[in-house]
Amino acid sequence: MKGRVRALGYGGGVEAPQRQIDANQRRQRGALMVLALLALLVQILTRLYVDRDPTATFVSVPAMVAFGLNGLLVVLAGWPRLPIHHVQRGAVGLVTLWLLLNVAVVAQTQRPITSGLLLHAVIVFLLAFSWLPLRWATVLVGVTYGLLFSGAMQSTVPDVPGLILTGFTIPLAWHLTLHGQEVSTERVRSAALAAIAATDPLTGLCNRRSGEAQLAALAGQWQAAPERLAVILFDLDHFKQINDSLGHRRGDEVLVAVAALLRDLTRPSDVLVRWGGEEFLVALADLSPADAREVGQRVLTVVRTVLPPGIPPVTLSAGLACLSEAVGVTGLVDLADRRLYEAKAAGRNRMVAGP
Ligand code: GH3
Ligand code: MG
Ligand code: MG
Repeated sequence: MKGRVRALGYGGGVEAPQRQIDANQRRQRGALMVLALLALLVQILTRLYVDRDPTATFVSVPAMVAFGLNGLLVVLAGWPRLPIHHVQRGAVGLVTLWLLLNVAVVAQTQRPITSGLLLHAVIVFLLAFSWLPLRWATVLVGVTYGLLFSGAMQSTVPDVPGLILTGFTIPLAWHLTLHGQEVSTERVRSAALAAIAATDPLTGLCNRRSGEAQLAALAGQWQAAPERLAVILFDLDHFKQINDSLGHRRGDEVLVAVAALLRDLTRPSDVLVRWGGEEFLVALADLSPADAREVGQRVLTVVRTVLPPGIPPVTLSAGLACLSEAVGVTGLVDLADRRLYEAKAAGRNRMVAGP
């Protein structure tokens, strides 16, 4: 039981803004790895196709180089310590290098321009505008297109309309990626704002509004096993005296210490709420009533050991109720509140639970 309720991380259910950003980075890194592996697959398929064409041996050297560059891309994408923007910049560099090698081969051999080469250029434009600072992207795309154009003009079949159309994709790529970036920036920002709006700024726990929403969701989830959803309402005893004797700032320190204690003694999946000024609600799902009671008792026992230096001993009173004893979330919280009141009336520094 001890192991079950000792938290390994942050309880409370609110995703802090930094967590959102980290999750976003992980998603981007995963997407990069998928893209790098897909590019490798494309290489292999192209290689298999070229091998069937005995006249096309001239592409084998760039193809082998492309394999090497692609392998490097997979390594970059899979390198966990490399910041994501370095991976992205490395990817743009490798893909551009690969294109320019192909252009050099065209210029040297004067072979016909292929649609694959032009599409490759479009990929470079898209990646550059997506992943490089705008100024770098503009320079890179301009230089790359200039080299592509002049290299292609050495070809016996330069495909001028194709080259012009490829040039048209530059402003298109710029516009589309800029729009995409705006949308994803907005998404990260609104997720961060949502997390801030759901968090109590002093303790970092859920505020009451988000706590109520999460509690309602939990109640829906545990309707079939209501004895395995418990809430405990904690209230600091005589907290006003601490404010009056030591000042509001020291009182705040006590609230922060109690919130940290609740995090330490619960699991990351438990919902921790700053319910009111010096009142905290903890929702424990998937625990037996006896285990929930043990969690509450441990908080009451340990609280005196976590107080900041210079704070006289502080006690807590608590009321515990299970969903099986009440009707709906409102009934559940009301019952816990009544039991908290009973604990206060019985002399404080205790928890009252059901029979
Ligand atoms: P009881 O044992 O009956 O709960 O007594 P109490 O003094 O804890 O309760 P009471 O409701 O009389 O006072 C609660 C105090 O909590 C009053 C208020 O100033 C204080 N409080 C509420 N929010 C905060 C806060 O954010 N910071 C600080 N420092 N104090 C707060
Ligand atoms: Mg109080
Ligand atoms: Mg109170």
